[in-house]
Amino acid sequence: MFALRGIAVSLTFFVLLYCLLSALVAVAWRSLNLLHAREQSLASLLFALRVLPLAASVVTTFAFVVPSFQLLEPRSINSDEGIGAMPLALGVCALLLIACGCFRVITAQTRTSRVVARWLEGARLLNVGAGAQTVTFCSRREAPPLTLVGVRRPRVLVSEATVALLSHQELHIALKHELAHMRSRDNLKKLVFRFCPFPGMARLESAWSQTAELTWPQPWSSSPAWFQSMPLRSAPWAS
Ligand SMILES: [Zn+2]
Repeated sequence: MFALRGIAVSLTFFVLLYCLLSALVAVAWRSLNLLHAREQSLASLLFALRVLPLAASVVTTFAFVVPSFQLLEPRSINSDEGIGAMPLALGVCALLLIACGCFRVITAQTRTSRVVARWLEGARLLNVGAGAQTVTFCSRREAPPLTLVGVRRPRVLVSEATVALLSHQELHIALKHELAHMRSRDNLKKLVFRFCPFPGMARLESAWSQTAELTWPQPWSSSPAWFQSMPLRSAPWAS
């Protein structure tokens, strides 16, 4: 019963702190004076703000709440004391929140694998000297011209139409843009967002995404109009 009470109290503290910090961040991030930061540091700042509630709640729970409970809570031999309705309910809420985050991550990964497998049918390796493995794939109607997919083994996918229509220099800049997303682990960051959902965070995520786009080399200004008008990211896990 002591261990169960400890888990319930820790989860209660975690979910309360997570919700409080998330609500604060969702409301207050725009009033912070972010516009004077450079684009790259602004993107890092927005990402840090987005993950702050999760990181702070996890660290505080494991660094302070769990040890404090073990030190200060009397290990009563009498187990009739019970857990208490409120910690039990909030503990269940915390578990549901964690389960929801895991579910969102797993479904995103599953959908990614399925879509990428389809895009990769008939693909061939493209050697353009961009310093990383890139794959050209036969264009399909739903396939984007250029995208970075994957988290553990990120790959840049380029449609054959893009390779045919861009000049070598334009293609090189476009690939550098995607490789910058790869180095910055932007797809992993998007998965972290999916793990810690909270109402009102979508605008912060979209501000981060737009800033991250502007941070890296821009091939779009010199590209054909059709390329500029196409959605480069057709899925939330692609950059
Ligand atoms: Zn991009």
